Order: sequence, then structure tokens, then C-alpha cells
Amino acid sequence: MQRVDHSKNIIEVQGISFSYDGKVNVLKSITFAIHSGDYVGLIGPNGAGKTTLLKIMLGLLTPTKGEVRLFGQKINEFKDWYKVGYVPQKATHFDTGFPATVEEVVLMGRYAKRGLFSRTTEEDRKLTREALKQVDMWEYRRRLIGDLSGGQQQRVFIARAIVSQPEVIFLDEPTTGIDRQAQDDFYVLLRKLSGELGLTLVLISHDIKRVTDEVMHIAWIDRTLESYSSPEEYLRMRKEEQTVL
Ligand code: ADP
Repeated sequence: MQRVDHSKNIIEVQGISFSYDGKVNVLKSITFAIHSGDYVGLIGPNGAGKTTLLKIMLGLLTPTKGEVRLFGQKINEFKDWYKVGYVPQKATHFDTGFPATVEEVVLMGRYAKRGLFSRTTEEDRKLTREALKQVDMWEYRRRLIGDLSGGQQQRVFIARAIVSQPEVIFLDEPTTGIDRQAQDDFYVLLRKLSGELGLTLVLISHDIKRVTDEVMHIAWIDRTLESYSSPEEYLRMRKEEQTVL
């Protein structure tokens, strides 16, 4: 069963506008909230501002107007970053010469919680094992990350994100460059993280058809927030729009 705790907002985006050059607004007056246990697809055409919005929600860019709250705290005062996992788009373009094993890559995810120079503990190893099992990559733990396929690497990056026991994971176009079967497996994994672990997921994707089949809510972005709705409502609106045109 999907668990959505509507009493708890994980992310609140309030009146956000953003400009890279101080002139043109890439994002304008965006307001929405994401609840605990929600699974949200951020969709919109290329250049719509999705990645920019994601970076603002991660505190990597500061909005020119408006405010973001994570777990009820203003983002510039937020300190519990271990609660937030991030799987970047570039994960599939991992440098194939990078000499780390799968297990080491996932262990790195533990440093987010405890600091870079802390020693690896038994607990770290146990959680790493559990994370790798969750994503069905335990057998590959001694392999070099660069020797894996894009789909396998992406699963390892999910494991790295979940090993710090976050409550929300942001994923930026996670299926870019991976084959159809690996994409299917990936969505099954996300469903498991959402359904069984109750993780809040925020997924940027251009694959509208696939995303509307998977998520609980669709945030449709095109510089402004065009709508924030259920997938069914989104599809109905798009259909009506096409009928009018
Ligand atoms: P999306 O993720 O929806 O494709 P982006 O957020 O990447 O959209 O980009 C939104 C707009 O901002 C685009 O017009 C893009 O060219 C511009 N943009 C993105 N990154 C930068 C940057 N670092 N500097 C200047 N403009 C940028």
C-alpha cells in the first residue's frame, strides 16, 4: 500500500522566481508542496526550468524571489542533509576509468551522514549490504563501477542515495541513456522504494507517458507551474487542450 502522510510537508516551494542573468526569469512564481510518502513527477519541455527548480530545492541555487522549506525549515538554515538523497543525471556518464568498486561507491553515501574523514564502521558495512541488496546489486559489489552498464550503475547510485537513510530522493532524468529493459527494472525499483520503504520521490523526466503511469502527482512546469495534479487529471487537461487547439 502507498503511504502518503498529508499532515507532513517534506518540501514547500513558495512563490519561487529565478533568473540566471538578472533579466530573464527562467522560473516565475512557483508554489507547491510535496507530502511525506508522495511520488512526484516533474515534467515539462526541454528548457522549461525543471533542473533549475531541482537545484533550488537542493539549495544549490538561491531563488531571486520566494522561499523553499525542507522538513519545515528554511533551506538556508536546513542542516539535516542526510535526509535528502540525490541521483544526478550525470550518473550514467560515469567516468569508466574511476577505480572504485561498487561497494566503495555506496559506502561513500555514508559520509554524507558522518563526515568525510570518519572511519568505516560495522554499521556502514551492514547498511551498504542492505542497500545493495535492495537494488539487486549485491553480487556485483567487488566489480569496478566503470565496468558496469548504465542501468547497473544507476542502481548503484540509487543504493548510494538510500544508504544514508534519507526520507526523500530527488532523481534527475534517471533513465537517460539506459536500455528499455533496464528502464522497466528501474521503475519497478522506484515503486518498491515508494511503496515498501515509504520514501518520498521527486523525479524529473521527459518520458511523460511512463511517468504518468508511475507517479502519484505530476508537477507540470513550463517556466511557471502549469498544474500540480494527479496523473489522471493531468492527462485529462492535456487532452482538452489538444481538443481546443
Ligand atoms: P530543463 O531542465 O527543463 O530542461 P533547465 O532548468 O535546464 O530546463 O533550463 C531552463 C533555462 O535556463 C534554459 O533556457 C537554459 O538554457 C537556462 N539555463 C540553464 N542553466 C543555465 C546556466 N547555468 N546559465 C544560464 N542559463 C542557464
